[in-house]
Amino acid sequence: MKPYSRLAYQTIKVAALAGGVGGAKLVVGLANCLPPENLSVIVNTGDDFTHFGLRICPDLDSVMYALGDLQDPTRGWGLAGDTNQVLQALRTLGAPDWFQLGDKDLATHLERTRCLAEGLSLTETTLHLCARLGIRASVLPMSDDPAPTFILTRDGRKLAFQEYFVREHFEPEVAEIDLEAAGRAKPTRKVMDALMEADLVVLCPSNPWVSIDPILRVAGLRDLVQEKPVVAVSPLIQGKAVKGPAAKMFAELGIEPAALQVLAHYGNLVSAFVLDELDALSVQNSELKDIILYSTNTLMQCAQHKFRLADEVLRLGLLVLNQSEKHD
Ligand code: GDP
Repeated sequence: MKPYSRLAYQTIKVAALAGGVGGAKLVVGLANCLPPENLSVIVNTGDDFTHFGLRICPDLDSVMYALGDLQDPTRGWGLAGDTNQVLQALRTLGAPDWFQLGDKDLATHLERTRCLAEGLSLTETTLHLCARLGIRASVLPMSDDPAPTFILTRDGRKLAFQEYFVREHFEPEVAEIDLEAAGRAKPTRKVMDALMEADLVVLCPSNPWVSIDPILRVAGLRDLVQEKPVVAVSPLIQGKAVKGPAAKMFAELGIEPAALQVLAHYGNLVSAFVLDELDALSVQNSELKDIILYSTNTLMQCAQHKFRLADEVLRLGLLVLNQSEKHD
């Protein structure tokens, strides 16, 4: 697909909805393709928690570190070249050590916690951190209100997200995902403005259940997204997650883990859906009215892959945008 030049999409405003690892990868690509003033990233805060008195926002950190080119390239989270001296010292003291805290990473949590204690909102704090890290695109927490996601397990427990994800290595079977707090959270003015001003919304290849859904659950955000042309990218390739529990969650919630089920999950929100070329055959005969299906290599293993996929997503977005203008 090459109907539009790179220049054509540089003038459109894009709001990308993202979680951590998968979201941050595409966001890096989008930031490479767009001028910073035209990119807003609305980030899931359902994974946030307080640990040792520090406010930790894993998805915001992943997006910030990725955009600041500070990220550990092999793990996909945390800072490159970070060390674990504090964590090791905590271990000696018998303190909980299940959550990885890098030494340099701790500085982010300390400064965030200090700013919040001084009365700054999470949005203001994130803007401050981004400015210091040289990030020019707008990185916005989905809400300034705490909106913790809980996992209800088949064995009858209610786990805070990081307990499920990190402490228990997402092994427990999921019975239900509790996004009630996100449902009570108010959207920020900045998130609402970013969505209202956006020409195109991109749903990054993030976990639909615990990264994108919490954002869409914040009061009014789904309705704002619904009004825009939306391109979604599948986080599942051949029924598997590249990383994390997305496929396992689909299966445990009784749904076949497959790219088309990701699309079904988003329902009528999506105007165009990007799935991996390895899944192209599986959608050949599917009857989907009014949705453009586009297949390409969606596995982002290096910077070039991120740039190319983002370029294709934006070209596709422009196609959708021009079609919707024709129908207006
Ligand atoms: P988390 O909050 O850190 O789990 O971050 P996300 O929800 O943003 O990312 C997890 C999702 O990203 C998983 O479902 C992965 O399958 C997906 N993902 C990670 N890397 C890639 C990739 O290179 N391509 C695609 N298509 N999906 C990816």
